[in-house]
Amino acid sequence: MNRRPPRGTLLRTARHQAHEVVVAHALAATRPAEPFAEAKQRLATAVEANRAEILDLSHRIHANPEPAFEEHQAATWIAELIARRGFAVEHPAGRLATAIRGRLRGGRAGERPRIGILAEYDALPGLGHGCGHNTMAASGVGAALALASVADELPGEIVFLGCPAEERGSGKQWMIEDGLFDGLDAALLFHPNDRTSSSIALLASVDVEVTFTGRQAHAASEPWMGRNALDALVLLFQSIGLWRQQLRPEARVHGIVLEGGTAANIIPSRAVGRFMLRSFDEGYFSEIQERFGEMVEGAALATGCQGDTIFSGGSSTMRGNEVLRQRFSANLVAYGLEDGPLDLDHVGSSDMGNVSQRLPTIHPYLAIAPLDTPGHSTAFRDAAATEAADDATLLAATLVSQTAYELFADPALVEAAWREFRATT
Ligand SMILES: [Zn+2]
Repeated sequence: MNRRPPRGTLLRTARHQAHEVVVAHALAATRPAEPFAEAKQRLATAVEANRAEILDLSHRIHANPEPAFEEHQAATWIAELIARRGFAVEHPAGRLATAIRGRLRGGRAGERPRIGILAEYDALPGLGHGCGHNTMAASGVGAALALASVADELPGEIVFLGCPAEERGSGKQWMIEDGLFDGLDAALLFHPNDRTSSSIALLASVDVEVTFTGRQAHAASEPWMGRNALDALVLLFQSIGLWRQQLRPEARVHGIVLEGGTAANIIPSRAVGRFMLRSFDEGYFSEIQERFGEMVEGAALATGCQGDTIFSGGSSTMRGNEVLRQRFSANLVAYGLEDGPLDLDHVGSSDMGNVSQRLPTIHPYLAIAPLDTPGHSTAFRDAAATEAADDATLLAATLVSQTAYELFADPALVEAAWREFRATT
């Protein structure tokens, strides 16, 4: 298992890295050995030319957080911006009202490749942009604008995909089912983090909503006539707590209470919990879902209630693509930044996993916050609107556009990525 590198070796803070980026910009342009160095420099210049619009978008989305499936304002801003820059925009795209597809044909002959430049923009309820998706929206748009500036020299098509509902509901899976990923040769999306690494792992994950139904009664005068739905939910939490002793270390089960009654003097007839189950191993993942269902039944039986379980929005493990990852990593290193190792100590889930099971995909991390800033926290939310986050957003736009350019300009690279993809089935 890869361990976290000692403090100080990997981690320069994002601010620190950002300063290095400015210096490295000039250096990178002077490296003749780097493939497509001149084009990559023009892409970096194009991102810089769009700096104000990219960062304004990031800040506006950060200041107006919208949860999964409700990202109407963010989606409208993004759709309008890329439409102004020549993309043929569908919004909504497919069945999700806040999904976007923008397409721009290259000026050179040839249908292929079609390279997907992705963006996310949903926030966390009650927290805001605690996952920094505002930077993903802005960098995805930035990469698309940079590529649009060189579209005349590209074959194929630039396909921008605005992807809602990553935090809950696995919006990308809906978009896959709606055919929005059909015909794509690759998908590229950066994610902000407290560390920089092009290698990532993801846990398979599923959302579970559990509703217990009992019978109301006066809690003092006829409690024996009631069936306490909240008791069932409490019992489920206790079962999960004990279950953890026997769970594999990398498995995760966690939840919250959505409804637990309306007054202390009413025996609650309805209690609702929302949970997530996760695992690295798809086989074990099925096993724990089945076990969870049995625990719901057990809690219902013990309390004389009825338990209903709805599983939804599954996301998959990450099927990495070394060919793409190495290109992104080389572009990152060309800016004088260190590409950290795969970190298996801090692993989450994303519907980018679903995309990665379908086509060559990368989902690299760039640091926007000091090491050990917890994700999904107010600290990370605040970090997502700092100058360091802005620098990382611009850098991500540059690196994604440069990696995409290589795919457009080098058909053998696309072929190699697909060869690897097929070989890892
Ligand atoms: Zn996220």
